[in-house]
Amino acid sequence: MNDVTGNALLNYIGGEWQPAADGSLMPVLNPANESVIAEAPESSAVDVDRAVEAARRAFPGWRDTTPQERAGALLTLADAIDEHADELIELESANVGKPRAVAAEEIPVCSDSLRFLAGAARAMWAPAAGEYVTGHTSILRREPLGVVGAIAPWNYPLMMAVWKLAPALATGNTVVLKPAEQTPLTILRLMQLAGEALPPGVLNVVNGAGDPVGQRLASHRDVALVSLTGSVATGRRVAGAAAHSLKHVHLELGGKAPVIVFDDADLEAAAEAVRVFGFWNSGQECGSATRVLVQRGAYDEFLAALVKQVESISTGDPSEGDGVEMGPLISTVQRERVMGYINRALAAGAEVATGGAALDRPGYFVAPTVVTGADQESEIVQSEVFGPVVTVQSFDGEEDALAAANDTEYGLCASVWTQALGRGLRLANGLDFGTVWINSHLALASETPWGGFKQSGQGKDMSALALDSYTRTKHVMANLA
Ligand code: NAD
Repeated sequence: MNDVTGNALLNYIGGEWQPAADGSLMPVLNPANESVIAEAPESSAVDVDRAVEAARRAFPGWRDTTPQERAGALLTLADAIDEHADELIELESANVGKPRAVAAEEIPVCSDSLRFLAGAARAMWAPAAGEYVTGHTSILRREPLGVVGAIAPWNYPLMMAVWKLAPALATGNTVVLKPAEQTPLTILRLMQLAGEALPPGVLNVVNGAGDPVGQRLASHRDVALVSLTGSVATGRRVAGAAAHSLKHVHLELGGKAPVIVFDDADLEAAAEAVRVFGFWNSGQECGSATRVLVQRGAYDEFLAALVKQVESISTGDPSEGDGVEMGPLISTVQRERVMGYINRALAAGAEVATGGAALDRPGYFVAPTVVTGADQESEIVQSEVFGPVVTVQSFDGEEDALAAANDTEYGLCASVWTQALGRGLRLANGLDFGTVWINSHLALASETPWGGFKQSGQGKDMSALALDSYTRTKHVMANLA
């Protein structure tokens, strides 16, 4: 997607379309066939500074609008997403290499998030005003922070951007958004479709690399909050860059979700869930069902069911048709990363029950892979692979399962599979993860919070709790004398 005249894409700053200050461009690829599908600005710190200045100037006016007025603008964005769903699905499919059915699941989530948070911000709760010191009335105000720097990843380009801009804008902040450099198409298209719903400068989009664009957003003194969805390593860099200006930091980072399957579970249902949610979006999913722990007595039966399921996944270029369930990885770098994890696991004594190789065809494909025999402390069990790779290990009892599941630096999400609800709830209480499902995996709703513990981040996306990260609380106390 270049613009209608075939020209390169532009940044959206202060309500105007602008090239990078130095005119630099970067190619945007289709990872399923490695073709260049657009050119987008390769911005520098100068462009970030311009966008932050536009957002800073727009802030007082946007802050002073009513929640109803801000909600109206978000509802217009939501309507634009729904009205242009087919086009956005095509763009996301071509830019990320995801099957249309996968992209199609994301579009209504984007519009619903906007609608939910538009309403939630109108119903924001604070303790009642009252007399907590004799002769004084206290009022608690929830206020926006100012300019929010939002940094999005490439796995769900539009959805992750919306999860940030919806709570930020609904509460009266202005935003400078950096899409992942690989995937700027859908957010730029949304700005073309509905950018005018927002006053100039309220939402700005600057495309470019993590360093310098993301780094500049994280370190800029006029940015009050930097909100990142990305890897743990990037989270550390962003928090480091943010430290000097002591800004707020919101981090949605990686995961290594354990899937604990007890021998009383519906093994077919559990295997099918891992087929879907271990390989969804080619495994490029922070909540991926990637680390299966099976009670020893059910191990062989579960593994056989899982391998059968995984071998039925149809992999290919999404443009080949709707039968394709799994596309490529995002880039050659990501394919090499994933193959590195698999090869090092095999060298360390693990085995592949199915898959284990890159596909010999154009595009960045890796076969859906199931790894067995890996030790708890091995790299493939401990690190986020972010590809179509699932490990299967065994455990004996509840305590064993809990210890293995929690033995990771990540804390994003987990699932427990058992017919015994009491056991499911006991495990859920002990699991050190921000979301725990019982007999389900990766079910999300706009009303429910999403965010990790430990190295998986801090702060919540989605739900009314997302509003906390994007607001500050001020206490006003009046002496009534
Ligand atoms: P990434 O960390 O490489 O990049 C994410 C974003 O950060 C991109 O826009 C990138 O340009 C930017 N960035 C990179 N280096 C930077 C730096 N030094 N300073 C500032 N910004 C920088 O992540 P990715 O590969 O795009 O996405 C995959 C990661 O995101 C995975 O670890 C995945 O688990 C995580 N993720 C988490 C969630 C969640 O909700 N917790 C959702 C989706 C993805």
